[in-house]
Amino acid sequence: VIPIETPYQLVSKHHQPEKTIVKVGDVHIGGADLVVIAGPCAVEGEEQLKKTALAIKKAGASILRGGAFKPRTSPYSFQGLKTEGLAVLARVKEEVGLPAVSEVMDPREVDDAAIYLDLIQIGARNMSNTPLLQEVGRQKRPVLLKRNPAATYEEWLLAAEYIAAEGNTQIILCERGLRTFEPYTRNTLDVGAVPALKEMTHLPVLVDPSHGTGRWHMVPDLSKAALAAGADGLMIEVHCDPERALSDGRQSLHPDRFSRLMEQLRKLKQTLEQIK
Ligand code: PEP
Ligand code: MN
Repeated sequence: VIPIETPYQLVSKHHQPEKTIVKVGDVHIGGADLVVIAGPCAVEGEEQLKKTALAIKKAGASILRGGAFKPRTSPYSFQGLKTEGLAVLARVKEEVGLPAVSEVMDPREVDDAAIYLDLIQIGARNMSNTPLLQEVGRQKRPVLLKRNPAATYEEWLLAAEYIAAEGNTQIILCERGLRTFEPYTRNTLDVGAVPALKEMTHLPVLVDPSHGTGRWHMVPDLSKAALAAGADGLMIEVHCDPERALSDGRQSLHPDRFSRLMEQLRKLKQTLEQIK
């Protein structure tokens, strides 16, 4: 008899005490490496994406991000280049030599997106979209599952369980801030999610301080806080011209600032290893 101690099973640490290492291209997430996913909020065009991709690669990022299907609050905001955006992302990632991640919102888009991408993102707004979770669970690409801003850890892990139950256990969790009473920030980043999740699950945990704050000037400090809290990596929005970005310019770092941050993160990682 094996006692079932949590409502989520396949993703629980009780079920599998050793950590899951998720492979995205040649990048291993959940092991010793500091993994940073970086790039613009949205794919706006080939030139824009390539310029940013070259800059983030030079700075030491390991995975390129760029939204093609954009879940915007207003139907009048830029909705992304959709399938053309995925094609641009696929061309740029090949040219620059980085694996790529992008969000899918519709179960019917999953099979196509899997051809273009190395990692499929489920965004915060779709964390509880069970047909979408099941669809990404049935295909072979790893999945990045962002936390809904109102979800408990248990609800988030049960969303991951929907993916794992279909056979795909290559899942990465990503904390991206909660809806609270504080209007200064777009969301309130829950850094405590990292040590909490490490007790509950064997899946790697990333932190996204860009969506977690909505303000670029807070991103470097909270990136360091996340790393110190034990995050397996970070997702950071970077744009070559944040003031003219078609989405989320206010929270996007300029490549120069991103490069400086990467240097600091490498030093912080070494220090953390020394005091372990
Ligand atoms: C994103 O990462 O592109 C995004 C839309 O983030 P979230 O789903 O966390 O809002
Ligand atoms: Mn964004």
